[in-house]
Amino acid sequence: MCLFCKIANHQQKADIVYEDEQIIAFKDIKPITPVHILIISKKHISSITEIKEEDINLFGKMIFVAKKIADDSGLSEKGYKLLFRVKKYGGQEVEHVHLHLIGGGMLYEDIHSTGKEVK
Ligand code: 5GP
Ligand code: ZN
Repeated sequence: MCLFCKIANHQQKADIVYEDEQIIAFKDIKPITPVHILIISKKHISSITEIKEEDINLFGKMIFVAKKIADDSGLSEKGYKLLFRVKKYGGQEVEHVHLHLIGGGMLYEDIHSTGKEVK
C-alpha cells in the first residue's frame, strides 16, 4: 500500500483537516507556504495520467473541497494556488494523485523547463 493510501486508511499519521467517504485532506509535512494542504482521493490513482471518465465527479469534488478549505483558512479573498504535479517531468514525487492547496501570502512562481531529457 502506498504512503497516501496509508494516510487515507488511518494507518499513517497525518494532520487531517477534511474527510468524507471519497476524499481526505491533510497538512503537508513540509509546507512551502503558511497554508499547504494536500487533497487526495481515497481511491488509489497513481497520477493524473491515469484518471478515467468515471473519475470526473471525484476530481470536481476534490477542487470543491480545496475551495472550502481555502475559505475556512481565510485564503479566498486574496487568492491561492491549486497544483497537480504530473509524473517525473511535472515534479511528482508521491505516486498517489494529490492536489496541493498553497497560500497564505503572495506566491512567487519560477516555473521553467530545463530542456533536459531525464530517463
Ligand atoms: P509532489 O512533489 O509529489 O507533488 O508532492 C508530495 C508532497 O507530499 C510534498 O509536498 C511532501 O512534502 C508531502 N509529503 C511526503 N510525505 C508525506 C507524509 O508522510 N505526510 C505528509 N503530510 N506529507 C507528505
Ligand atoms: Zn495510494
